[in-house]
Amino acid sequence: MNKFYTSICAFLLIGTCLWAQTSGHAPCGTPPAPESVRTFLQNIDYSISPEDPTRINIPVTLHIVKATNGSGGFLENNAFLTICDLNQRMTSAGLFFYVPGAVRFILNDALYNPVDYGPLNTMISQNNVVRTMNIYYTNLGAMGLCGYAYYPNSGPGGTQNNGAVVMSFACSQPTGTTLTHEVGHFFSLPHTFDQTSNNPTSTNAERVTRNFNEPSPRLSANCNTEGDNFCDTPADFIDNRWNCPTGIIQLDINGDRFRPDSSYYMSYSSDHCMSRFSDQQITAMRATLTSINSPRGYLTINPMPAYPDITTGASLVSPATADTFPGNYVVFRWNQTPGATAYQIKILLFNFAVLDTITTDTFYISQARIIRANREHSWQVRALNGANLCTPYSDRVFFFAGPYITNVGISFESENPLWKVFPTLLESGTSHQLHIDGFSGIEQGSAEIRDSWGRKIQDWALEPHSDRHSLFLQPLPSGLYYVQVQQDQQRMAVRILIH
Ligand SMILES: [Zn+2]
Repeated sequence: MNKFYTSICAFLLIGTCLWAQTSGHAPCGTPPAPESVRTFLQNIDYSISPEDPTRINIPVTLHIVKATNGSGGFLENNAFLTICDLNQRMTSAGLFFYVPGAVRFILNDALYNPVDYGPLNTMISQNNVVRTMNIYYTNLGAMGLCGYAYYPNSGPGGTQNNGAVVMSFACSQPTGTTLTHEVGHFFSLPHTFDQTSNNPTSTNAERVTRNFNEPSPRLSANCNTEGDNFCDTPADFIDNRWNCPTGIIQLDINGDRFRPDSSYYMSYSSDHCMSRFSDQQITAMRATLTSINSPRGYLTINPMPAYPDITTGASLVSPATADTFPGNYVVFRWNQTPGATAYQIKILLFNFAVLDTITTDTFYISQARIIRANREHSWQVRALNGANLCTPYSDRVFFFAGPYITNVGISFESENPLWKVFPTLLESGTSHQLHIDGFSGIEQGSAEIRDSWGRKIQDWALEPHSDRHSLFLQPLPSGLYYVQVQQDQQRMAVRILIH
């Protein structure tokens, strides 16, 4: 997708910043950072060096918005990768982001393609998880934005719960810098051009000089009270997306030429130009967090749970190398990895992922037609937990997907859609009650369970005039089985997994 990123800062009540993803150069009326944030920044002691800072752990809740019917959005893993990238970019600041809970999904057409902030503010109020930084991913195309965030003590939400970061899917690619930029706002950082871009030659624009005792008639430095309030970021005036280096010449009130630094995340330079925060920016973000009285100090009240390191991929069990499975029922199994709370399984045809999903189980059953018949495929799994989201995959194991099976002599399609057999996922080595619901036959019927070789394991008679049958199922070893039901010339078959 060819994108021309330009910037726009919308006039929100609380002065957050937004990046537009529109063509051309959208006008930008930069709102000032709220007075409370400016005062906060001006009262920080910047003499303390942020070198090698102690790590501050920050819990994050991830919300992915989808259409009301569940379509659209993106994979949980895409959201995880943005956190991996954020952690790399925030290493110098000593900020570490972890995800203590499962990814949350919001199914709502109005929030999936919002046209203004109103519904999104309501979404934030209703879905924010207290004492975590909430990140929402949705389409912001209609609003022309890459993302936006709320400064501390502003925006929807309540005590220990205020504000959020909202990201567009389009700008959530792992190599993008939008999330890092927005998180900077969330932790009190204004744009480097804040207060200056609207009128770079005015007396209260940030001046280029860093000399606080300029000889008259020159005006002395004001970098500690104007602009972004930081003296170690050069004065900046460019409030739309710019590529580095810039050839744009602009002079300040002293006639000094602005030399904005494209390497700062809080500027509007292109993604590839950005790579850092300044020492004062780092000090300010940390001051937003370090004590319980800090504006975002509530994020550190709950200690981070112990997350064991995960340094290897999961250990794959089945299919093993060169195994052949019928393409329409491959059961993937792997061993539990110590410390893992979820797994990502990827099934590939050549190098194309035909399936890429997250599960908390240690197995996955392929569905017909996801895996192509008569083709070699490969698969791999990585183990995850809340603080280890960028773990390595196992080596790829290649297996052969054979023809789709019909040799057990049963159709996979129910001929009677009223019939339901449940549960279909059972534990091995223990007996179970199997229920058949929804169809009341006139004649006596029958049900039987067969293994994947078609061998009959057990059978039952179904009484007439009953729309619920409870069957006693003997303990079985793990594997895939079929339950076949027949009554009044009606037939159906259901797959059962014993694990
Ligand atoms: Zn911004």
